[in-house]
Amino acid sequence: MPHTPYLIIGGGMTGAAAANGIRELDEAGTIGLISAESDPPYDRPPLSKKLWDGKRTIEQIYVALPGNVQPHFGTRVVALDADNRRATDDRGEVHTYDRLLLATGGVPRRLPFGGEAVNYYRTLDDYRALRADADGGARFVVIGGGFIGSEVAAALRKQGNEVTLIFPEAGISDRVFPAGLAAYLNDYYREQGVAVLNGESVTGIETGADGATVLTGSGRRLAADRVVAGIGIVPNVDLARAIGLSVDNGIPVDARLLTARPEIYAAGDVANYPDAVLGARRRVEHADAARAMGRAAGRNMAGAGEPYTYLPMFYSDMFDLGYEAVGLCDSRLEIIEDWQKPNERGALYYLKDGRLCGVLLLDIWDRVDEARALIEAGGAPTAESLKGTFG
Ligand code: NAP
Repeated sequence: MPHTPYLIIGGGMTGAAAANGIRELDEAGTIGLISAESDPPYDRPPLSKKLWDGKRTIEQIYVALPGNVQPHFGTRVVALDADNRRATDDRGEVHTYDRLLLATGGVPRRLPFGGEAVNYYRTLDDYRALRADADGGARFVVIGGGFIGSEVAAALRKQGNEVTLIFPEAGISDRVFPAGLAAYLNDYYREQGVAVLNGESVTGIETGADGATVLTGSGRRLAADRVVAGIGIVPNVDLARAIGLSVDNGIPVDARLLTARPEIYAAGDVANYPDAVLGARRRVEHADAARAMGRAAGRNMAGAGEPYTYLPMFYSDMFDLGYEAVGLCDSRLEIIEDWQKPNERGALYYLKDGRLCGVLLLDIWDRVDEARALIEAGGAPTAESLKGTFG
């Protein structure tokens, strides 16, 4: 029965960052790292970006782990006995620990049809499967207009494939962008050769030996060699629930990323944490948050006792349009738009109850720290006071 002072369940970016965070304070303590994926931890953003345009190879996206990590990859924890600090994996091996991190992330939301014919694009294996079919000339239907849908549709199209992007909302990424920009993006994607079916639902998928047919709410039948879906993720809270931790849009943790149990931490996509800057609880599903929160949890597991106060950023590329953003950027908030070139370059400011809570910089680069400082300053700006802040 392996015993490690530190046990991390989840081998994604959060788990890897936590291992490195532990090592910053504890040079020697053995770290058990259990991951359902058989790949060692890797950076997830390149799966829909740099692996496609040749800026990264698979070997380059693996995350370096510190020394004295006991890896258990391709293994799932199936039972947790919190009182006795024991985790049992699907091979029947029992792992005991002193401190535990739940970095279990999220699982893709699935359609009620289509089965294995749909690639729910989340892992390196999903990339490998898609890439094998995507070197030009194949027909893809991509379902979902969020991050995965918009980035994967662009990546597939750039490889010369026929791509249909279908989603129920009015515009691409309309959970983030104001309506005008989301509508502009629909047309921009069309100009790039993607068939954009906005405001359209998927009602069924018929599968056959040579591909699939995607059925839509308005009666279309879309023939596809491959179907990809990015319709969000659901936080993976099963283990937390099984040991009686409360669950509410993820696993609630305190400022030090501790759950209700003093020896169990949670971080990354699965953690519902108090955001110190925004003054509200939230759950963030972005790479920068995984790195920062994972590191903070690891340091705290090793005794740092530090509050997590970082305001994470996120970014995306859609063909030649790209942005960096920080804070809460939700299109349901009040948005002030300050364009240098309408819908192509400018700053978007998101306000909650009059207070600045997010900034999105479209085609304005390397100024996220300034944007974060603006949010941290805590003001209630106006369109006039913000005008020209980012050029
Ligand atoms: P996402 O960005 O949340 O987008 C999912 C989209 O699918 C939403 O617009 C959602 O609409 C819609 N949707 C929900 N149910 C649907 C259904 N049955 N049919 C069609 N559309 C449906 O999630 P994602 O694109 O799947 O990405 C997965 C995760 O990876 C997210 O956590 C994301 O943040 C992360 N990711 C981030 C980046 C980045 O930061 N650049 C890149 C790739 C992935 P509603 O909002 O109305 O539910």
